[in-house]
Amino acid sequence: MTLKTPEEYLKSIQRDVNIYMFGEKIKNFWDHPIIRPSINAVMKIYELAHVEKYKDIMTTKSHITGEIINRFTHIHQSTDDLIKKVQMQRLLGQHTACCFQRCVGFDTANAVYSVTYEIDKKKNTNYHERFKKYWTEVQQQDLMVDGAMTDPKGDRSKRPSEQSDPDVFVHVKEQKEDGIVVRGAKIHQTGFLNSNRAIIMPTLTMRPGEEKFAVSFGVNTDEKGITIIYGRQACDTRKLEEGKLDVGNYKYGGQECFVIFDDVFIPNENIFMNGEIEFSGELVNRFAGFHRQSYGGCKVGVGDVVIGAAALISQYNGVDKASHIKDKIIEMIHLNETLYSSGIACSALGHQREAGNYEMDMLLANVCKQNVTRFPYEIGRLAEDIAGGLFVTLPSEADWNSKEIGHLLKKYISTCDGVSPDDRYKLLRFIECMSMGVASPSYKTESMHGAGSPQAQRIMISRQANVDEKINLVKKILDIE
Ligand code: SF4
Ligand code: FE
Repeated sequence: MTLKTPEEYLKSIQRDVNIYMFGEKIKNFWDHPIIRPSINAVMKIYELAHVEKYKDIMTTKSHITGEIINRFTHIHQSTDDLIKKVQMQRLLGQHTACCFQRCVGFDTANAVYSVTYEIDKKKNTNYHERFKKYWTEVQQQDLMVDGAMTDPKGDRSKRPSEQSDPDVFVHVKEQKEDGIVVRGAKIHQTGFLNSNRAIIMPTLTMRPGEEKFAVSFGVNTDEKGITIIYGRQACDTRKLEEGKLDVGNYKYGGQECFVIFDDVFIPNENIFMNGEIEFSGELVNRFAGFHRQSYGGCKVGVGDVVIGAAALISQYNGVDKASHIKDKIIEMIHLNETLYSSGIACSALGHQREAGNYEMDMLLANVCKQNVTRFPYEIGRLAEDIAGGLFVTLPSEADWNSKEIGHLLKKYISTCDGVSPDDRYKLLRFIECMSMGVASPSYKTESMHGAGSPQAQRIMISRQANVDEKINLVKKILDIE
């Protein structure tokens, strides 16, 4: 059994990576105040896997080795596994109030597992065995893995092969006997820097002539030729200031990177697709489906914290008994549990793939994520409504602690007897962070664009839903031929 401790995980990512932020190369990135909260969020995953009461959710038995593994490295073997995945993500969202980054590689692995099996069956390749071997190492070493899909894409009106600069899509630059050389970039890379490995996938369905772009492979995140540029988040430099309260969620945060692959060599054993264009779309859709299911868990957990913050600030403000406040909290709960319902529903109605693993229901997973593009905005709006405007006009922590004026701020920010003004200050800052700050990258914008922007789900919904069947229903009832 290998369940890394948070400290062992931390040690495993202390390597020499080519990482830049604010135009400078970063040394010992794990100690950087802007980056560290994102590492803390990942460490929480490793920590909870050792907590007795969460064992059933956080760990499971590997179908490959029979050993106990962290669930984030599991290949789903039943609909119960799919449900537990969503429960686990809600749990982590509740503990971190941000993106904990490990789901992307998890979802990638489950998609690659079934797609490689199907490629092999049709093409006589051996991608599936390769991938199983690769993933067994991940399970046995409890590695943190990123999954990389989104290319910069250049001119959206042109196909990958028509771009004036082919590098805007990751592609095979050179085929060698023992491997391939790849070039390109992946953007919005959740947790890439905090991951030991990454699995790269094509960004869209490739067509004949676009074989070099239909490529999937595993790579170490510190491989030669990889450059990582850290993504900015709103208010990120507050983490560089003295004090911590102005950060809001000062313990945890998400991480997004811009990753460039400049002629990176990938040995044959780490290649899981190389030119099989007819499977590129399937890989994209399956990964996206799994990740849209994920949002029915992680964003619900974060939503729980937002609802808790709104309820607590209403107590601090002395308005928690007001009927309109109670009703707003009920509305927030209703919306949040609706998200959870679709996350659970697409899991419960999952099905088995030929490779033996289980996959969520594609239509319901896309409905789930479509809901996530909307409801967190309303939940956030209600939290802001309940909090009052102070969370965006509040003076800084330096003023709060100032010998000259701090006592005045505390006097006028005090509310009910028994409520500490310090706690109210801290909570208002937290609400600010959840609403527009560094949490997640953002609870709301990540809900909108993470796992695909709204239109991507609408395309999948239109493909999955059978409207003709619905027309026939009404025809049958009305005796229409
Ligand atoms: Fe996981 Fe949610 Fe972060 Fe995606 S956005 S990696 S599902 S926590
Ligand atoms: Fe995401």
